[in-house]
Amino acid sequence: MRKSVVAIVGRPNVGKSTIFNRLVGERISIVEDTPGVTRDRIYSQAEWLTTNFNIIDTGGIELGDEPLLVQMRAQAQIAIDEADVIVFMVNGRDGITGADEEVAKLLFKSNKPVVLAVNKVDNPEMRENIYEFYSLGFGEPFPISGTHGLGLGDLLDEVVNHFPELDQQEVDDETIRFSLIGRPNVGKSSLVNSILGQDRVIASDIPGTTRDAIDTPLKRDDQDFVIIDTAGMRKRGKVYESTERYSIMRALKAIERSDVVLTLIDAETGIQEQDKKIAGYAHEAGKAVIIVVNKWDTMKIEEKTMKEFEDKVRDQFRFLDYAPIVFLSAKTKKRIQTLLPKVVEASENHARRVQTNVLNEVIMDALAMNPTPSIKGQKLKIFYAAQVSVKPPTFVVFVNEPELMHFTYERFLENRIREAFGFEGTPIKIYARRRT
Ligand code: GDP
Ligand code: GDP
Repeated sequence: MRKSVVAIVGRPNVGKSTIFNRLVGERISIVEDTPGVTRDRIYSQAEWLTTNFNIIDTGGIELGDEPLLVQMRAQAQIAIDEADVIVFMVNGRDGITGADEEVAKLLFKSNKPVVLAVNKVDNPEMRENIYEFYSLGFGEPFPISGTHGLGLGDLLDEVVNHFPELDQQEVDDETIRFSLIGRPNVGKSSLVNSILGQDRVIASDIPGTTRDAIDTPLKRDDQDFVIIDTAGMRKRGKVYESTERYSIMRALKAIERSDVVLTLIDAETGIQEQDKKIAGYAHEAGKAVIIVVNKWDTMKIEEKTMKEFEDKVRDQFRFLDYAPIVFLSAKTKKRIQTLLPKVVEASENHARRVQTNVLNEVIMDALAMNPTPSIKGQKLKIFYAAQVSVKPPTFVVFVNEPELMHFTYERFLENRIREAFGFEGTPIKIYARRRT
């Protein structure tokens, strides 16, 4: 089910990223760490009581050398476009500034719920500073302190109160949800259009439509699909949409809501570093993955080149060794009909549950073929295995001592499981647990 999205906006230095980091808790770096970049994440998951949600630090999306006001407007617009609830942050030590008023104007015009957070209220005596912020017109200001972690509970209570009733139909199990990711110009929107069999741009960008409206449903041979986030691929021409951070954020959001992710490569330009990075997100999210080599019409001698290209892909995308590769042309539509059957297959494998007794036979056969390793004289013993979840298929192997499960042996077990059950297109996870 899709999670609600919260965005934090406000002028620089009010404490947005401080609060973001507090809400996100442990530092999981989604966006690769780059030296000199302090904000390594702008989009992450958080939870309050029993509610999980996604949170965006819009301050992390910077637009080169644009003037401050342009930056702030763009960031506010991102929040308005992407979020279900906006946390508008101001600084309780500075009072209302002109820049705050600018942001307020934009937020006011949107129909999104806005919760006003007055940060840097580090002690109770400072609480009286908050009253002037009523004049911004967003109702009750919530005093918080990012440094001391004060007031966040009350703020989050209010934020969660504004979450929309999420559409339960979205969890309809029969429907396969997939998304297309890849760097700009690999042909994502062209491929969506060819899948849909129409040349014009698909979803209309009507202001005020819910974000769900940009998902595109389609039906083939009685199978329902939803293509996630198709409108996000269109070039709407807003400055922030061309920033890399923003496109990564969009990709992550689309991936999260998908069962199957198609990661596109451009045959004409060949594999690039960024392709691997983007595909890595899909892999890490535990989604089914299909590698699509697009623009195959630009290649000359098809068959021979295909094998060569495939070897290259396998070599460069080792972490995706389970992903099938489809060569096609969004433009000429060649082999486009092979794509959806692969999506169905990958999705079925992603959701597949195997029988426990068969699983254990496979494991025992594996043990007989390749005895377990020893580390410092202690031998790994495997007692039995169970599949504990799907999407992706996840297995727990009960052992005498988990530390003795060397990754090469785990890899061997994974291969045996794959040989026995298929699982093409989906990652599988294996955990060793001590039998108690
Ligand atoms: P952003 O630009 O809005 O993301 O702001 P930052 O999170 O980078 O914070 C700007 C500065 O304010 C940093 O020096 C923070 O340490 C400081 N700061 C953040 N929250 C608080 C707070 O609650 N109280 C005080 N006194 N300082 C804070
Ligand atoms: P996106 O940025 O990933 O959505 O890429 P687009 O769908 O906008 O395509 C980028 C460019 O590549 C456009 O000029 C398309 O016409 C072109 N293109 C897309 N698919 C193909 C293809 O299969 N073959 C060729 N030759 N060009 C393609």
